[in-house]
Amino acid sequence: MSLQYPFTDLPSAGTRFKVAEGVYWLRFPLPFALDHINLWLLEDGDGWTVVDTGLGVRSSQKIWDTLLNEQLDGKPLTRIVVTHYHPDHLGMAGWLQQRCQAPVVTSAGEWALASMICASSDEQSISGFKAFLGSHGLGGEVLDQVAGKGNGFRRVVRPMPENPQLIGAGDSLTIHGERWQVHIGRGHSPEHLCLYRDSDRVLISGDQVLPTISSNLMVRPSAPEANPVTAFVDSLTALRDALPDDTLVLPAHGLPFRGMTSRINDLVAHHQRQLEVVWEECRSQARSAHDILPVMFDRKLDVQQLMFAMGESIAHLNCLMEQGRVQRQDKEGVWHFAA
Ligand SMILES: [Zn+2]
Repeated sequence: MSLQYPFTDLPSAGTRFKVAEGVYWLRFPLPFALDHINLWLLEDGDGWTVVDTGLGVRSSQKIWDTLLNEQLDGKPLTRIVVTHYHPDHLGMAGWLQQRCQAPVVTSAGEWALASMICASSDEQSISGFKAFLGSHGLGGEVLDQVAGKGNGFRRVVRPMPENPQLIGAGDSLTIHGERWQVHIGRGHSPEHLCLYRDSDRVLISGDQVLPTISSNLMVRPSAPEANPVTAFVDSLTALRDALPDDTLVLPAHGLPFRGMTSRINDLVAHHQRQLEVVWEECRSQARSAHDILPVMFDRKLDVQQLMFAMGESIAHLNCLMEQGRVQRQDKEGVWHFAA
């Protein structure tokens, strides 16, 4: 089945919009190229469960104030589920936890990485990114800009939540008497929670399956040899094979849609094409991750996008290296990959 979008009216900030029995769509603006995030509010007995929380900035707090005061029918928020560690998903979880005295639920993999990033000082964060991206060919002023002014994560995850409840593969959550099965996504983040309700085939997919953009696959300085491309493709195809094609997918960005099989096939094909493009480039001469950017991205990249693009370029090179299709050599402190 080709992609179908059953809802085209967007909920305005501070209002909720019903998309399935007991499931409401909330939409928060974001102050960067990715201009919004979708959160999902679920009826849960005498209270509400929310999935994802928005970026930890003042504008999100204002929207949450409105929602908590006007949109919850006088019932409390009783559970906060965070699909993965990225600040637009995790950012307001600590604030909501304190305000509503509600537990935060996430996976061990997401919690571990969030905690590690949060613990790093500004200096450690800058030097880690500089050394890592420098070893992949980024240099000069651009490297200084991309490595940033310190630990940006801590500025938009305010505060980190405390004592989370950790769930993982094989677990499920009972929400309003219904079972939501956990499916784990990998590659975009370590152990991304997706929640599936079988009774009416609804999947809260977070950033694991998006309708119009491909989720960023980024190698981080703390795991420089990681291969998120294979992890992403394998976990996506497992999800595709586990769930019906007419599942209503509720993504964190873009519109709710049906047609998961064709969307996942397109995403897998996109990464396979990128691998071939990168491999071709490495056949003509040894190339660094920075050299590869123009063949992978045919648009101008701002500083934030450049960071994601470098991570994605390294991800595809690491994948080819793991497949034995390229070899890596150190040329004056910069990794070069040759087919
Ligand atoms: Zn994300």
